Amino acid sequence: MPDVLQVNGLRKSYGARLAVADVSFNVRAGEVLGLLGPNGAGKSTTVGIIGGLTAADAGSVTIGGATLASDEFAFKRRIGLVPQDLALFEDLPALANIELFGALYNLPKATLKQRAMEVLDLVGLAERARDKPATFSGGMKRRLNIACALVHDPDVLLFDEPTAGVDPQSRNAIFDNLEALKRAGKAIVYTTHYMEEAERLADRVVIIDHGTVVASGTLAELLRTLPAAQSLTLDISGTLAPDALAALQALPGVKQLKLDAGQLTVGIGGIGAVGAVGAIGSSGGTGGTADLGDLARTAAAVLQTVAAGGATVRHLSSGRANLEDVFLALTGRQLRD
Ligand code: ADP
Repeated sequence: MPDVLQVNGLRKSYGARLAVADVSFNVRAGEVLGLLGPNGAGKSTTVGIIGGLTAADAGSVTIGGATLASDEFAFKRRIGLVPQDLALFEDLPALANIELFGALYNLPKATLKQRAMEVLDLVGLAERARDKPATFSGGMKRRLNIACALVHDPDVLLFDEPTAGVDPQSRNAIFDNLEALKRAGKAIVYTTHYMEEAERLADRVVIIDHGTVVASGTLAELLRTLPAAQSLTLDISGTLAPDALAALQALPGVKQLKLDAGQLTVGIGGIGAVGAVGAIGSSGGTGGTADLGDLARTAAAVLQTVAAGGATVRHLSSGRANLEDVFLALTGRQLRD
């Protein structure tokens, strides 16, 4: 699949504040690009520039070879932006809201009517076509907002934190919509500060911080940059002999070790660390067997070594490395401070 959207070297300041310093990425048809970063990282500004709402100080956005400067109408015709803030007329029926957006694109009347019903159906609001958004829940309004951005059948879709303040049911409905749009071949940019959403939805993730891309790749590629694919946390009582710590460090698969206030954290990279992480990625982040085998083997050896070192394990838990760990390793900060 060729790249539909090409974003190159975007830069934008508001007065002395540099909101976007240097952002570049490409998105193919049928691909979801997750733009992940903490609040204030520059995600909305980036999306606003791509959607033609905000003028960049530098850089370019190309859709199927066209730029905003070369043909503004053709460019905007190919983009659908779902803004973070709802943009609806509360006292107009849902269908009329969509038709109003469609009219901006000069769609012929018959096409517009048909498209408006199709997109209402896609977001699960066909039966509420004649009702006003004023009577909708927050999640339903959000879904109507999405429908408005889809009416002109754009190739590129920009979703700016579409699940903010949405109930779990509507959140899942939005995820389903996204999957359907992906299957229909749309190129999708999805901004979020929730790493779970990026892990679940995105084919590739671009992590931004302070307006700059700090990492990009598939989930598996990003996790592979970490030394430990799994972690084991043990609450222990008693004093662990110093040579037990050295023995733990020497165990196959142990990549990191930290003992703090009776809590022992062991980073496990797998007997073949790269293979273990690859297994996570290839199963879509929902767990593989190869990495669990490595975890089990190393965990058994860790427990034996701790017991032999004179300490008692009171609680044991395990966790898998995630995008939060990737962000932490790159920036020294949590995604959600
Ligand atoms: P994100 O979407 O990742 O939360 P934003 O793109 O909204 O980040 O903001 C990036 C930075 O630019 C923030 O420091 C924000 O305060 C600033 N910013 C965004 N929009 C404006 C604006 N219209 N005027 C001044 N500063 C802005």
